[in-house]
Amino acid sequence: MRYLTADCIFSLRGPAAVNSVVVAASDGRIEALLPEDEVDPLLVERHRGVLCPGFVNAHCHLELSHLHDQIPSGTGLPFFLNALARLRRAQGADAAWQEAAADAMKRADECMQREGIVAVADISNTDSSFGVKQTSSLTYYTFVECLGLAVGQIAERIQNAQSILLKARQQGLVASLTPHAPYTVSPLLLKSLFMEDGTGIYSVHYMESEAERQLLTSGSGALQDLLPLLAVERTYFSDQPVQWPEVMIDLLPSGSRVLLVHNTIAQFEDLSPWLQWQGSFWLCTCPDANQYIEGSLPDYALWRKVTNRICIGTDSLASNKHLSILEAMKSIQAHDPDVGLEDLLRWACSNGAACLGWDELGTLEPGKRPGINCIAPVDLAHGRLLPESRVSRLV
Ligand SMILES: [Zn+2]
Repeated sequence: MRYLTADCIFSLRGPAAVNSVVVAASDGRIEALLPEDEVDPLLVERHRGVLCPGFVNAHCHLELSHLHDQIPSGTGLPFFLNALARLRRAQGADAAWQEAAADAMKRADECMQREGIVAVADISNTDSSFGVKQTSSLTYYTFVECLGLAVGQIAERIQNAQSILLKARQQGLVASLTPHAPYTVSPLLLKSLFMEDGTGIYSVHYMESEAERQLLTSGSGALQDLLPLLAVERTYFSDQPVQWPEVMIDLLPSGSRVLLVHNTIAQFEDLSPWLQWQGSFWLCTCPDANQYIEGSLPDYALWRKVTNRICIGTDSLASNKHLSILEAMKSIQAHDPDVGLEDLLRWACSNGAACLGWDELGTLEPGKRPGINCIAPVDLAHGRLLPESRVSRLV
C-alpha cells in the first residue's frame, strides 16, 4: 500500500484537498482518500506540487508518429492535409518506411506513458498501429475513420473500414467506426456507417479551419484541391450549402455520444445546434496542433458558455512537437488565463474518461485505477501552471 500526498490533491470527484492522503494498492487501485492526521506520518510519501488522476488523451493519430517534423508548421489545414496525403501515398507499402513507422509508434506510445497519459482515443485509417496498441500498457479506444462523398464510393468505403475494424477487434482492441469530417462524408455514408456500427461513440474533426467553412458554404476555397487526393468527389459541394451539423444530428442514433475535435473556428451557431440534440456531445481541443497547423486557437470562453464537457487531445506527431497533455494545458492557459487549474484538470482527466466510457479512469476515487500524476512546480495561489511545470507518474 502507498500513502501519497502533495501540496494539494485534485481528486476531481470532490473539492481540491490539502492535508489529505491518497491510499493506493500495489495494483494502482485507489483504496481511500484520508485526512493526513489519520495516517502514520512515517508511511506518507510527500511530494511538491499537486496530485491528480492520469491524463486522458482524447484525440491522437498514433499511426502518423513517423511523420514528426515532416510537414512545415503554420501553412494552414489545406496545405497540411495535402502534404500528409502525398507523404502517406509516397511511403505506402515501402518496407523501410513501415519499419520506421512501427518504431516511431512504439516510441510515441512510451513517450505518452512518461507524460502521465493513461488512456488514448486514437484515430486509425489503417491497421498499422494495432500491434503497438495491443502490447501497450495504455488504454486505447480506436476510432476506425471512414470518409467518402460520392454515392458509388459508399459501399466500398464502409467495407474497407469494416475490415480494418474487424482486424482491431480480432487483436483484442476496443474499436468502432467513425466519420472523418463534415467536408469528407456524405449523408449517405453517415447513414450506412451508423447502421453498421451502433456502438454510439463517434469522434469527428469539426470546424478546424476557415477553408472548411468555405467549402461547406460555397463549395469553393483551398480545401477543394485536396478532395481528389482523398479520393473524394468534389461535385458534392457544387449545389447548395451543406447544412452541418444539422445533417449529422438528424442521422445520429439516439443516445449516442459525439466528440467534436478541434472546433478552432467554431462560432456559437456551429455549436448551439448540438445543445438541442438528445445525445451527449463533448468538445475536444488540441491546442498545440492548432498552433502548428493554423497558428490559431479556439475561443474557449465561447466553449465554456456552451458546455463544461471539454477535453484535451494532442493530435499526431505530424502536427505537434510532442504528445503531451501537460504542454497542451499550458498552451490553453497561455491563450486564455481565465481557465483555472481545476477546470483544466477536469478537461485533461475526468471529461475524456467520461466521454469514452472509461469508468475506472479520470478521478481519484476508491475502487478506480486512474493512475496518479504529480505536477510540479505549480502556482497554486493563482491556479496556474508554470512554463517549468513537469508531470511525473507516481502510480
Ligand atoms: Zn485528428
